[in-house]
Amino acid sequence: MFLTISTSGTPERPATDLGFLLHKHPDNRHTRSVSYGTAHVLYPEATPERCTAALLLEIDPVALVRRGKGKGKGRGGAPDAALAQYVNDRPYAASSLLAVAIGAVFSSAMRGVCAARPERVAQPLPLRVEVPALPARGGAELVRALFEPLGWAVAVTPVPLDVRFPEWGDSQYVQLVLEAPDGTLTLGEALRHLYVLLPVLDDAKHYWVSPDEVDKLLRAGEGWLAGHPEQEVITSRYLSRRRSLTQEARERLELVRLADADDTDVDEIDNAVDEGTDTEEKPVPLAVRRREAILAELVGAGAGRVLDLGCGQGQLVQALFKDVRFTEIVGVDVSMRALTVASRRLRLDRLGERQAGRVRLVQGSLAYTDKRLKGYDAAVLSEVIEHLDEARLPALEYAVFGSARPRTVLVTTPNVEYNVRWESLPAGHVRHGDHRFEWTRDEFRAWAHSVAERHGYDVRFAPVGDDDPEVGPPTQMAVFTQAVTAAKAPETVKAPETVKSAQKDQVA
Ligand code: SAH
Repeated sequence: MFLTISTSGTPERPATDLGFLLHKHPDNRHTRSVSYGTAHVLYPEATPERCTAALLLEIDPVALVRRGKGKGKGRGGAPDAALAQYVNDRPYAASSLLAVAIGAVFSSAMRGVCAARPERVAQPLPLRVEVPALPARGGAELVRALFEPLGWAVAVTPVPLDVRFPEWGDSQYVQLVLEAPDGTLTLGEALRHLYVLLPVLDDAKHYWVSPDEVDKLLRAGEGWLAGHPEQEVITSRYLSRRRSLTQEARERLELVRLADADDTDVDEIDNAVDEGTDTEEKPVPLAVRRREAILAELVGAGAGRVLDLGCGQGQLVQALFKDVRFTEIVGVDVSMRALTVASRRLRLDRLGERQAGRVRLVQGSLAYTDKRLKGYDAAVLSEVIEHLDEARLPALEYAVFGSARPRTVLVTTPNVEYNVRWESLPAGHVRHGDHRFEWTRDEFRAWAHSVAERHGYDVRFAPVGDDDPEVGPPTQMAVFTQAVTAAKAPETVKAPETVKSAQKDQVA
């Protein structure tokens, strides 16, 4: 089993610092016995410009069998076949055993401890990781889904069954190359990703899964697992699909997530509500489902630079911020109070430069055009339009679709037909005191179609929450995409009269 980690350097930051960070001097070969074999760390190259550390794990397959821990885990679907215990891929393919070796050999580096170069530990560095033979259960697609959200560029090459017989096709192994450009990941983060995700791809633990595996998983997953889109697969596979452990891990991760999301104090939130900020979605899961639906649409659209228009207290901005696929996130709101809460939630004052550069909160009204909002991949208007007087909607429409013109626009708004299903809502009432209107599905569709038509977008609709057969979903979403052959170029669309007067208002 084999894995290499490389970095590049400059005279001020030599690549050979990798040796300090890994606690393994590049001039020496380091050998240490680990369960079921021997781990070696050696450096095929070590110059100030480039440095590569190789972790080589020699497995003793006989020891694996003798200790009874490899039992039933032979590959190829013959679990207890005597032969499979001796003839299997264990010595060659990266697996949970390699992860165990990473944990044993690089434990300080994983924890981000380095007495010799303490300042380097927290510095992200350019990284390249290569695993020549990785069992990838779930295929290249899963490999990407696991690593890409964490900031890795992923290259997966299938390994042929036998190079001499190409007609035999590919094996179940892949060669994996991960690259993280400078400024993305620290070495500790990278090792913790590998420690968790190699066994996830292997999907067969080769040792007894004890309850403290949950602790190990959460420790290694700190800072990235709670917000990972594939968290379910990761926890379930990492814990060998042991239901009680997986459940425990999920509950603890959910607590982490909630603690991250809601450490603003209640008073501030109440105050912000007075300002017209919306917390009507009391059945909290609906708010969560809305964010999930929005995230999925943004990812599907391949959006990296995103506007959250009417971002309120910043829950969506925070969710976007946790996913490194979103490289620039701008939250806009008219309420300074809401923005203050959002800023606290994001701990903007405590972020490092590289992270702080990804997110911005700006005060502004969506009823006016704003040059700062031009040229983004996508804009989200989540539960915002109903907070404007209907007479002001044409102004918002022009500011967003006519002037800012992001490639994709997502608009969500309550579906008033669903209100009869809210038990706590008196008949005929809107869901929130600050809602100026709530639309039926037909009204929303008619508005969206006419906006799309006026500004050269295509539009489709998606339900958010359970789609009730009679009254539809609690929330409705329109997904606007700039039409490829926009019938009307932006400059041919005139600002409506209301916009012009609104702009005069602003000047006045
Ligand atoms: N998008 C958030 C918040 C929705 S509440 C969510 O989905 O939870 C509506 C938000 O729109 C409020 O924060 C309010 O301050 C903001 N808002 C209302 N009118 C606005 C306007 N004209 N310009 C900018 N923001 C506005």
